[in-house]
Amino acid sequence: MLEVRFHGRGGQGAVLASELLAHAAFLDGKWPQSFPFFGVERRGAPVTAYVRIDDRPIALRTSITVPDVVVVLETGLLRTVPVTDGLREGGLLLVNSALPPELIEVPIPVRTATVDATGIARARGLGSPTMPIVNTAMLGALARATGVVSLDAVRGSIVHVPAKPRENREAAADGFAAVRSGEGRHLPVARRAERAPPLPEGPIAAVPSSTLVTSSWRTLRPVIRLEKCTRCNFCWKYCPDDAIELDPSGFPVIREAHCKGCGICAAECPPKTIEMVLDAGARGGWGVR
Ligand code: SF4
Ligand code: SF4
Repeated sequence: MLEVRFHGRGGQGAVLASELLAHAAFLDGKWPQSFPFFGVERRGAPVTAYVRIDDRPIALRTSITVPDVVVVLETGLLRTVPVTDGLREGGLLLVNSALPPELIEVPIPVRTATVDATGIARARGLGSPTMPIVNTAMLGALARATGVVSLDAVRGSIVHVPAKPRENREAAADGFAAVRSGEGRHLPVARRAERAPPLPEGPIAAVPSSTLVTSSWRTLRPVIRLEKCTRCNFCWKYCPDDAIELDPSGFPVIREAHCKGCGICAAECPPKTIEMVLDAGARGGWGVR
């Protein structure tokens, strides 16, 4: 039996990716099982999904703690979520990154593969500029890097994708062609811990979201063009993390440390004066060099 664990953020398509992988395995004549795990947060929050694939019926119904393959849909998760926990010796870490595998920091020596699924998704027009949908490109890469399913089966499973099936099939083929395999850059756990952002003190349940440093989650950050701002304060009202405050004149100001880059403020801003841009810290930060 092969066990796969997906790590993504709400809105990136990690759960759909697990369902498509299971369906692709079924099309290849295997017995699959897939199921997600959601945390307490919403859009932008870490999401985990699991897939088991075997040549015979699977009776096991537990979550996957010792995966053979870990798929990471966004590099920021490498610094905030222990994605390699339990990864089997000889297992594979597949990361959505434009970097070669040798530049991906990993806390254990592990086979690593990378594919620029974000670039592929953007080129194929999948998702929005603020949230490219990378799952089908990642599945194509997974098919090539593991051989557990065929590219034809992945492309066949995409009939279940609700939008742009042709573009998603092309993205899967792009991911299949572009994946690179190697070894991650082993960075001992102690050094990672030294660089980890400090955790808030006290019980998590008693900590208001405004005190949490969720900026380590983000790959995008909002930029407000104040010259077009009408001071309607919709962004301030809708921000789920209390990451926007108002200056004495009523103009919104982003509290950078607490903004997780979910893009809700940009979506809700009536005159569309908020633009989500790539966060420089996320590009060069944790998990990549
Ligand atoms: S400021 Fe905008 S992008 Fe940042 S957390 Fe709030 S709603 Fe999300
Ligand atoms: S929602 Fe847009 S227009 Fe309204 S206060 Fe925020 S930035 Fe300004």
